[in-house]
Amino acid sequence: MKFSEIPGLKSTKEKLIKTVERGKVAHAQLFAGEEGTANLALAIAYATLLNCTNRSGQGACGVCSSCQKIKKFIHPDVHFIFPVSSAKNKTGKDVVSDSFIGEWRSFLTNNPYAGPLEWSQEFGGENKQLNISREESRNILKKLSLKSFEGEYKVMIIWLVEYMHPSAANALLKILEEPPEKTVFLLVSNDHEKIIGTILSRVQHLRIRAFKKTEISDHLVHHLNLGMDKASQISNISGGDLNQAINLIEEVEDNTHGMFRDWMRICFASNYLHMIKWAEEFGKINKIRQKGLLQYGLSVIRDSLLIHHGANEIVSLNASESEFVMKFSNTLDLIKLQKLYELMNSAFYHLERNGNPKIISLDTSLQISSAFRS
Ligand SMILES: [Zn+2]
Repeated sequence: MKFSEIPGLKSTKEKLIKTVERGKVAHAQLFAGEEGTANLALAIAYATLLNCTNRSGQGACGVCSSCQKIKKFIHPDVHFIFPVSSAKNKTGKDVVSDSFIGEWRSFLTNNPYAGPLEWSQEFGGENKQLNISREESRNILKKLSLKSFEGEYKVMIIWLVEYMHPSAANALLKILEEPPEKTVFLLVSNDHEKIIGTILSRVQHLRIRAFKKTEISDHLVHHLNLGMDKASQISNISGGDLNQAINLIEEVEDNTHGMFRDWMRICFASNYLHMIKWAEEFGKINKIRQKGLLQYGLSVIRDSLLIHHGANEIVSLNASESEFVMKFSNTLDLIKLQKLYELMNSAFYHLERNGNPKIISLDTSLQISSAFRS
């Protein structure tokens, strides 16, 4: 993967390229961003750059033998460690990254912005608790004790380091502090607050921001061949999360707008029977669509707040959505809109942390309904 394949983030890429040009490559770096950012993609692009035999100020060449191998995730000096769980035919000591390397390669090829939920589905983990085990730390030490095969740098990419078991983390502290020469650790995290402090204090931090809407829509148009309209519709509800955007490609033809509109009508009418039915419907759709629906709701409320603050038109919406947002913002005052935003945001928060979707949506409906009446 090359930097140019990752949308936007110009200054972050330049910063990383400069470290190589100036020979100032830190031996342990943390790529911290939320799910759907380019944290993993950037780490892979950086590993590609480190070992490219024909690099330039723009980054890796993409065609040399090293670049080609990293592109297929088969370079002998670029190692991947990632959280796993037991799965069919894989239990006990086999529950380590190497046992899942085939699935990992197809996962990365398919979507390097995907999260742990998709990863678990990919290797058949059935959403069991993921973990980077003590056994895994032994494998890391073993791999790094070998001389590098063909690359200039030996690179150890650890995806979702927050899943590392404390005993595994402790086993790595020494090598993180003083790795063998030309060995680079690239730790990738979706939730760096969960990483244990002794690891955090030993790595150089690089914060990866969420994508901008335009970066997402450009990527959807130029790399995934979407039409401009569909791309901008998706980027508007993706909340800067490229993984969510990619997942939404299949779903966008669905009735997110209609479902949200019905929900608000039911809450407005305080129709409890319909609230229960709606919660059941919500419980039946998949988690990606559930998140998408709440994100869509948040974007409608944001747009309504903008209208209250004097914006006359919201460019991102089609005619029927636009009409709905106008009505919505006319019906609700600022305080109610803000309350609604908080409720929707909190529903999203609990959904992300694996709360029960039916209970969350029913509870949120009741609170919205009461906010409407206050
Ligand atoms: Zn190259």
